[in-house]
Amino acid sequence: MCFPSCVFLHVFSKPNLPASFVPNRNAIFFTLAHAFAQKQGINNLVTGINQTDYSGYPDCRENFVNALELALNLGSESDIRFHYPLMHLTKGETFDLSAKEGILDLVINESHTCYNGDHKSFHDWGFGCGKCPACIL
Ligand SMILES: [Zn+2]
Repeated sequence: MCFPSCVFLHVFSKPNLPASFVPNRNAIFFTLAHAFAQKQGINNLVTGINQTDYSGYPDCRENFVNALELALNLGSESDIRFHYPLMHLTKGETFDLSAKEGILDLVINESHTCYNGDHKSFHDWGFGCGKCPACIL
């Protein structure tokens, strides 16, 4: 039995994937949300997933989300739709949209995408190390 070490060896053998890539992370999140939606009678799931500022994570792409939506619906005889309104916006455009909708302060103060987990350093764009790919974007 090689799990989980075989999973990590597999990822490390793919030089195009960033070291911070977590295998199947988004598939797990979508699968759990889809299962919960079935039990609650929810037909629409909204996610903030985004491929525009693609940082090398293949599970953030629109074609992956669409394929997973199809697979999960086929596997459960359901018709739950995944919505991803930020998919084609840059992070800058997402901030602009947040300002337009009057929630920029919420995004700056309550969201956190720093890969290094720095929640002590505060910038005008929010918390983060300021050096990792997510903070730079
Ligand atoms: Zn960072």
